[in-house]
Amino acid sequence: MRLGVHVSIAGGLVEAVARAKRLGCTTMQIFSRSPRGGPAPKLPAEVAEQFDTQRRRAKINPLAIHSPYIINLASPEARMWKQSLRLYQEEYERAGLLNAQYLVTHVGSHRGSGDAAGIARVAQALNQTLTDTPSSVMILLENTAGSGQGLGDQFEQLAAMRAKVSAKSRLGICLDTAHLFAAGHPIHTAEGLEEVLTSFDRIIGMEHLRLIHLNDSKAPFGSRVDRHWHIGQGHLGAEAIRRFINHPRLKSLPFILETPKKSEADDHRNLTAVRKLAHGQRQARGAVSAHR
Ligand SMILES: [Zn+2]
Ligand SMILES: [Zn+2]
Repeated sequence: MRLGVHVSIAGGLVEAVARAKRLGCTTMQIFSRSPRGGPAPKLPAEVAEQFDTQRRRAKINPLAIHSPYIINLASPEARMWKQSLRLYQEEYERAGLLNAQYLVTHVGSHRGSGDAAGIARVAQALNQTLTDTPSSVMILLENTAGSGQGLGDQFEQLAAMRAKVSAKSRLGICLDTAHLFAAGHPIHTAEGLEEVLTSFDRIIGMEHLRLIHLNDSKAPFGSRVDRHWHIGQGHLGAEAIRRFINHPRLKSLPFILETPKKSEADDHRNLTAVRKLAHGQRQARGAVSAHR
């Protein structure tokens, strides 16, 4: 399976690759800048190139960039929306410079202006970004836990945004398991998972699902609270995660952990937990040790 974590860029981009490599990642996600704002660190061509070379050498693929949290492409306030769009376009360009496959995007909050108005503003921002910024990076809209006035907890909302975007070949979906669960999509039972996948396929289309954020949830089912937790130790639980990652319609997707961490040891533990739950993984490792 393609498995990785969201790694910190503390110490620089090249250090981020080294970190992912130490963890045995075969895919990775980063923030290219502080997710909570402030000016973006410069991205000189030689740094971007070195980062790309190191990542390819380590066979870490795909690379996802997560867009900053301060962006709200659904904002009804003209100034905030314009600022968000400018920042988002900058981020889309940076993702291209880093040779990322995906820019994971939170669709934002309509701030009381209603779903339809919010969806229209997000689509406008996406259209402007995709037309004004030449790049092959694919934008992935991420589903949310559905707290407050945030959009994106319902597949219909993501589908409505997608329907309004012209460059559809550069727009896909990222699903976060903790967000699905908290938003009330019953992925914790076998029948529930089938239902959720069937409705995703009907409303959006399975072929548009490109990436999974694999997280357990510290918040209960349907709580609309976004609290990522260690694999197998939350309300979602090990069995549900086992079913999810081995599901025939999901197992070939890249999985990225965004589980809490105090140090690299936490990432190691969560990655090990996932590898143990993945069918075939143990056999493969067993085969390697038998040859020694
Ligand atoms: Zn996210
Ligand atoms: Zn989350």
